[in-house]
Amino acid sequence: MFDKEYDVIVVGTGAAGLFAALNVKSDYKILMITKDILENSDSYLAQGGICMLLGDEDYDSYFEDTMRAGRYENNKESVEIMIKSSQDIIKELISYNVDFDKNEDGHFSFTREGAHSTFRILHHKDVTGKEITGKLLEEAKRRGNITISEYTTMVDILEEDNTIKGIVVNANGHTSCIKAKKVILATGGIGGIFEHSTNFRHITGDSFAIAIRHGIEMENINYIQIHPTTLYSAKPGRRFLISESVRGEGAVLLNAKEERFVDELLPRDVVTAAIKKQMEEDNSDYVYLSLIHMPKEEIIYRFPNIYEHCLMEGYDLSKDYIPVTPAQHYLMGGIKTDTYGRTSVKGLFAVGETACNGVHGANRLASNSLLESLVYAKRAAVIVNNEIKDCDFAILQADEKEYIEEYSAMSMDEWFKLNKKTILDEIKRKDREFYDKWCNNEN
Ligand SMILES: Cc1cc2nc3c(=O)[nH]c(=O)nc-3n(C[C@H](O)[C@H](O)[C@H](O)COP(=O)(O)OP(=O)(O)OC[C@H]3O[C@@H](n4cnc5c(N)ncnc54)[C@H](O)[C@@H]3O)c2cc1C
Repeated sequence: MFDKEYDVIVVGTGAAGLFAALNVKSDYKILMITKDILENSDSYLAQGGICMLLGDEDYDSYFEDTMRAGRYENNKESVEIMIKSSQDIIKELISYNVDFDKNEDGHFSFTREGAHSTFRILHHKDVTGKEITGKLLEEAKRRGNITISEYTTMVDILEEDNTIKGIVVNANGHTSCIKAKKVILATGGIGGIFEHSTNFRHITGDSFAIAIRHGIEMENINYIQIHPTTLYSAKPGRRFLISESVRGEGAVLLNAKEERFVDELLPRDVVTAAIKKQMEEDNSDYVYLSLIHMPKEEIIYRFPNIYEHCLMEGYDLSKDYIPVTPAQHYLMGGIKTDTYGRTSVKGLFAVGETACNGVHGANRLASNSLLESLVYAKRAAVIVNNEIKDCDFAILQADEKEYIEEYSAMSMDEWFKLNKKTILDEIKRKDREFYDKWCNNEN
């Protein structure tokens, strides 16, 4: 299924992992692994869209929107790089046949979401993530230098003397070690450790637990975004997101008395806090979202996926108020990186939601994460390309058999519980208030 050695291993096949792999020179042998099937990444779920700088005149406004949403805790250099790279990234996506919606005049149709002061979000109906990630995946499958392995879980990294030497994987119940000159972690966020999250259940922050155990520098693991509007359900499982662009197109939030109680386009954390307060006042597990002012044909054209899903759950968006409730959605923090995805371990990179380069500060501006993932995945690939030619496979001093015995002795369930506890303990240590409010029932 896979060899014993690769030039580069990319862990995760979401937008960040794929874009990193596609930007590593095709001379190098790359292994991409994913815990589940290829299509099950959070990148596929992105509904709202991807931001793009409209032009020089939009720079200050886009920068300020990102900083304000991030409560000015953002790394300014990271924000600047992301915004200034956005147009090139979009061009590169289009070169991979990614299709963004256009107006009748042939120009891009931009939408708007909470805390954006203008319409600067490109989208493909309400399935932008699927469009982008699907096209990147098609391209990766075409590349002869990239091997992709599904149902293959990284359970540990091979790291000695602060240098990466490979990873330990579990595939079909078998544990093995795979050596690599460079490893790129693109395992997404931590939604799977929360009971209520919009993320796939298998996205459980494995890289963070591994990083904590190896003493790799982390940053802001407690900066976790709770999305204000997910479809309320009493059933267990992933929560269905009602994209912010629905509010961007005029949907309003209503309390039990059918009255508005908040400006729907304020930053996510502010809207979430207002909803939580309102739910307490109403003694209810949800508030309502109404889009009934929009003609049905328009709703179906603009939000086909959301419309269909709500209908399946018994709500017609064109007629009914739909019950919504906040749920875990995104991690702003993660493994600390510089602006090239470099971590504190030599040869180990982190990109996408796994990385914290400071772009998002304390709170992410809507539709900045796909862009941030792509911009910094590409920058990591640049360093990999530059450094790898002078790199040999490092000799592993430890005995591979010891890793194999250690992880073979542990069930995946035990391993998951250990990781979950490691991450939640770290969140508790950093931010007791957040932990008590959102994580206390997750143990
Ligand atoms: C419902 C929803 C809607 C969103 N809408 C938007 C939007 O409109 N615009 C926007 O910009 N952002 C949006 N986001 C956020 C955005 O989609 C993600 O932040 C971004 O796509 C993360 O990409 P990623 O490649 O870092 O991780 P992911 O796409 O989550 O991919 C993680 C990958 O890592 C793999 N993996 C995890 N652990 C392991 C392991 N131990 N071993 C092997 N593989 C592993 C997974 O299987 C998966 O392939 C949304 C997120 C959600 C959940």
